[in-house]
Amino acid sequence: MSAPALPPRFEPAAIEARWQAAWAEAQAFRAPERPSGDRFSLVLPPPNVTGVLTIGHMLGDTVMDVYARRRRMQGAATLWVPGLDHAGLATQVEVRRRLQRQGIAWDSLSREEAIDAVQRWKDEHEARIRLQTEAAGFSVDWTRYRYTMDPLAVRATREAFVRLYRDGLIYRGERMVNWDPRLRSAISDLEVIHSEEETTLVFVRYPWADGSPGGIEVATVRPETIFGDVAVAVHPDDARYREAVGRSVVIPLTGRTGPVIADGAVDPEFGAGALKITPRNDPVDREIFLRHPELQAPPEILDAGAHLEGDWVPAAYRGLDREAARLRMIEELDREGFLVKRQPFRHAVARSERSEAIIEPRLSTQWFVKIGPLAERAVAAVRSGEIRLHPARWELTFFRWMEGIQDWCISRQVLWGHPIPVETCRACGQQTVTVEPPVACAHCGARDLTRDPDVLDTWFTSWMWPFAALGWPEPTVALERYFPTDVLVTGRDIMFFWVARMMMAGYYFRGARPFSDVYFTGMLRDSEGRRMSKHLGNSPDPVDVIRERGADAMRFALVFPNPTGEDGPFGSAPLDGARNFLTKLWNLVRFTLPHVPPGTDPGAPPPRPGPASDLEHRWILSRYRATAEEVDRALDEFEPTRAATALYGFVWHDLADRYVEIAKEALLGRRGEPARREAQETLRFVVERTLRRLHPFVPHVTEELWHALPHDGPLLARSAWPGADEVPTDPVAELEMAPVLESVHLLRNLRAEGRVPLEAVPRAWVRPASPEVARLLAAERGTIERLAKVRPLDLLAPDAPAPEETARRVAALGECFVARPAPGPEETASLERERATLAALLRKTEGRLGDPGFRARAPPEVVREAEAKATELAERLRRIDEHLRAGPSEAAPS
Ligand SMILES: [Zn+2]
Repeated sequence: MSAPALPPRFEPAAIEARWQAAWAEAQAFRAPERPSGDRFSLVLPPPNVTGVLTIGHMLGDTVMDVYARRRRMQGAATLWVPGLDHAGLATQVEVRRRLQRQGIAWDSLSREEAIDAVQRWKDEHEARIRLQTEAAGFSVDWTRYRYTMDPLAVRATREAFVRLYRDGLIYRGERMVNWDPRLRSAISDLEVIHSEEETTLVFVRYPWADGSPGGIEVATVRPETIFGDVAVAVHPDDARYREAVGRSVVIPLTGRTGPVIADGAVDPEFGAGALKITPRNDPVDREIFLRHPELQAPPEILDAGAHLEGDWVPAAYRGLDREAARLRMIEELDREGFLVKRQPFRHAVARSERSEAIIEPRLSTQWFVKIGPLAERAVAAVRSGEIRLHPARWELTFFRWMEGIQDWCISRQVLWGHPIPVETCRACGQQTVTVEPPVACAHCGARDLTRDPDVLDTWFTSWMWPFAALGWPEPTVALERYFPTDVLVTGRDIMFFWVARMMMAGYYFRGARPFSDVYFTGMLRDSEGRRMSKHLGNSPDPVDVIRERGADAMRFALVFPNPTGEDGPFGSAPLDGARNFLTKLWNLVRFTLPHVPPGTDPGAPPPRPGPASDLEHRWILSRYRATAEEVDRALDEFEPTRAATALYGFVWHDLADRYVEIAKEALLGRRGEPARREAQETLRFVVERTLRRLHPFVPHVTEELWHALPHDGPLLARSAWPGADEVPTDPVAELEMAPVLESVHLLRNLRAEGRVPLEAVPRAWVRPASPEVARLLAAERGTIERLAKVRPLDLLAPDAPAPEETARRVAALGECFVARPAPGPEETASLERERATLAALLRKTEGRLGDPGFRARAPPEVVREAEAKATELAERLRRIDEHLRAGPSEAAPS
């Protein structure tokens, strides 16, 4: 496919659509079925079907695309598997919410109707997510697209459960879980948000059971849980309660009594230092309870919807919601003389991210994965460097968390998800756990089986993604050839929920690491510094950003200038910067095109400048080589922003601002035909290679520009990644060019300092610091004159007097001078006003310094500061005087 000639303006929309279609048509990203040799594979973290992609997704996916495109260009058989996550609980909540807005109660639906509603949601969002992924130009292989509830994923999930179950690593047990009473389900720690909230702390007196006066004071924010109390605990070293331990207290409003026990987990600083023990409703209480086997085991006091229930709850409270019960309880405690006081209390309250209900810690019977044996292998892999985390600082966080890891609760009391593959026999009570859904009990053969009502945590499917997405448990070719995968890119917020578990699954089910490198992207922040989140609604829709700015600009703004591994802002500033950069690149190629002679062979060998070649060609080739090496090194070291920064600096400063300007003379034929040919060849070569190296970052615009130049092959996306060593390093050229560029820089600054009008070409002088610098500057005098816009440039002998009426600067390469134009009448007036102000300030400062009292009393640094100020003012006055002496003129010379 050929592109039309480049229009003057860079307009991304049409270009991007065209190349996306061309890549799709050519199946440019389809991975070979049976690759041999070098290969590279990665899985796209399957986005939740809950919503659509955010800018945060775009950041991770852009980093992955940079790696996928580069490795593909390097000749590796590259497979990037896209996918979608059914996101069980999260999706069910969204669907339920939408139905509610339509006036339909979720609970009124039959199981089939509910699943249908979720399925419709999935179909809509799936299409939207795919569109977003395509619009950004990510080079995934759509023929390998997978969904975490497709038949293969169902099979993989059952297989995994059965294997763990048979190995004794899955068990059913009572554990404290985060209970969401609105969703009536256990939820994961990830789905719990802690934030400071104002509540009431209630102080309750538990009287002595033997009737003696006094008692123990207990502080709680959940007085309704008193019904589940079995004891009061104090710290063993707390002198206040030394006598109390072993006595009994009355548990208010229950007619029961309980012992006072000592336990080190009690915080003596909280409240009055005594803790009521409600083993079923608080994780700390539960631990204390387990350490004191003498305590009575309590029944349930709250049902799944957080209503009070059970034998220990007085009839008047049964069926009451926890909030209503709390108010009633406080009244009654007060009436009965148990209430000591109430006070406002600010503390971290845990709420469900999905339903916003306050989490109820609840002891419930759930399915668990015994995590210890699995975690050990993952920790060892990171410790030995078998799996590397980038940026490396995350290793510490990883190890810390893995040390304290708890068994993984994998059951959820929702509808949407993979059913737990456990059938219980009504005849013999035994469980049958098989990969194929059983028709009869494996123990007694009875056909009366009841399936477990729960579904699996979504992560139980996605922790297998790196191999399940390749067909596991079937022994597929893809699995054999593309597993283990190479790079995983994701947000650090799911380091434990997903990344660590994938490591465990990789070693357990496949006996291998699932990937060699994990790259954690930073979190994006909005212009107010807030973290972008779906929750806050402050993440722009990537499709809108792409429509307004283009996919390439979005991609570049995500990797530059803020490091992809750091938290940072995303907004109009980086987008403007990216757009300006792409426009610069566009204009560079537009400048290049007329200097590419017809019939140029795109496969011509790289230019080989000789000793007779102009310095700028040797220099730009050496700069290109240094940039290419830096890009490779930075990408290998997982610093994509460093690679983008190198390319940005090279294109903007070295290539467009310096080389093109310097080489113009030769390109325009002013130095003869051989010089022109060499300039043409060098320019085309460097621009073409730069487009290839930029391609993984900004694939559409580079594809377009590459097609405008003579090119080999149908697509840049499938062309070769050029080796950095195609051209030699030339330290001599870089060394010789340095004083030339430095003098241009200095002279340009002096022009500004000397208030030289933009269009003027003033005289300039350099007194070189050494004969070597003098030789280099003399050789490139014409270049310096053109670039700094000065003429003539004279080189001064070491003993020559300094030219008058100049702006000057002393630098390492020598002393530079630029002639100042005489000021016009308006400028003279303004300079005279400035002079008067400065002179008054100087008089004042000198007055202070002349006062012996000031010098005696003031601290030495204040005196020094005043002296420095006086010197600076005197120097500024001197310059103004110099300028004024040039006298008013009619107009600046031009
Ligand atoms: Zn049976």
